[in-house]
Amino acid sequence: MATQVKKTFQSPKGTFDILPDDQKYWEKVRKAVKHVALSYGFERIDIPMFEHADLYSTAIGQSTDIVEKEMYTFRSKGGDLLALRPEGTAGVMRSYVENGMLNLPQPVKLYYVGPMFRYEQPQAGRYRQHHQAGFEVLGDQDAVYDAQVIIAFLAVAQELGMKNLRVEINSIGCPKCRPAFRTQLVRFYKTRVAKLCKDCKRRLKDNPLRLLDCKEEKCEQLKAYAPNLIDHLCEECHNHFKLVFEYLDELEIPYALNPHLVRGLDYYTKTVFEVFVEDEHVEGGSEKTHQRSKLALGGGGRYDQLAKTLAGKDIPSVGAAIGMERLIGVMKRQNIKATPLYKPEVFLVQLGAFSKKKCLRLFEDLRVHGITVAESFGKDSIKAQLRSADRSAAKIALILGHKEAIDGMIIVREMDSGAQESISMEKLIKVLKEKLKK
Ligand code: AMP
Repeated sequence: MATQVKKTFQSPKGTFDILPDDQKYWEKVRKAVKHVALSYGFERIDIPMFEHADLYSTAIGQSTDIVEKEMYTFRSKGGDLLALRPEGTAGVMRSYVENGMLNLPQPVKLYYVGPMFRYEQPQAGRYRQHHQAGFEVLGDQDAVYDAQVIIAFLAVAQELGMKNLRVEINSIGCPKCRPAFRTQLVRFYKTRVAKLCKDCKRRLKDNPLRLLDCKEEKCEQLKAYAPNLIDHLCEECHNHFKLVFEYLDELEIPYALNPHLVRGLDYYTKTVFEVFVEDEHVEGGSEKTHQRSKLALGGGGRYDQLAKTLAGKDIPSVGAAIGMERLIGVMKRQNIKATPLYKPEVFLVQLGAFSKKKCLRLFEDLRVHGITVAESFGKDSIKAQLRSADRSAAKIALILGHKEAIDGMIIVREMDSGAQESISMEKLIKVLKEKLKK
């Protein structure tokens, strides 16, 4: 009889599991994001992980990589065309308008944390499901909020103890000044079409600003000679940008002007920025080399036109998003420690069926008193249980034998020294609290 070979399942390409060992880093990042967000007055919002697909194509732009190539789009059984969210801003703005947040005192400051989905070619630091933490300030055009989202972004990295960060900043103007720049840009590239990559040849027709975002080497080289956005800003954009600098200077935030920085989404106006980390990668096998490179941790910018495009409303806003996988990758490479989340203080050892039942009750009592307990209820031998106690790094083992269980006593053993004493059950919580300095 032919034996049937069972298929083994693997996670889909570009996705990964966050295993217990790594959770401490995620918790640390989530904690830092929450702490920073609340200290700057951002309140949490959770939006759906999928939306109507045209929300994204309208907001982000039809001829962007995200919409053209990377969106997970699907038809629901009811016939709606939906998409897994590739980013957070469009959904947050949709929610703001839908829930009448325009009637709240402005600006409305929101933050979110959660997974995003992009059908990209997986590589180190690039996944098909990744997580972002984002800050959004909706309903205010003041340049002070452009500075504040940058400052909040850096505060997260700082709270985590991260080093070697670099902020690059630019202004991409507004519908008043961008068309003239666009014309100049097209003129510049039209005479150099032969030197462009295939995608950029198409971008030249569909979305010329995106030419500045191309990572192909030959296009990067050309970019150095391309016209500057900064030279074409209207007075309003120029003054707004100047104020952003002044606010950052006031707090002595270091930044670099990158006149060719544009971002991969169409909804930006005025300020755009990215935060990079000078990262060290180890490459090669036996002959390892240390390579320094610039890794984008995240970015953002002002999106004054987004609500107009989506809902015909004037809601000037600014925001930023941090890539959480990259943040955690850098934490590990920069040797930033995270405290394990599960740290049992006491290990319960039981001998025999009667004491096992008593231990079940004892476990609950200790837990209610805030003492973290580990157990190996499934094991009977004292040797095996003490071995587990050793491995658990608990400071104290509690040993309940049959006789102790009948007499209302329990053995308290200090794992480091091996010293042990028998005490009455009634005194146990008090003794443990003293020993654990609680
Ligand atoms: P973006 O708005 O596309 O610049 O994304 C913001 C940040 O999210 C980036 O700087 C990355 O840190 C992170 N990010 C974007 N796409 C991915 C991805 N596919 N995998 C992992 N992280 C990503």
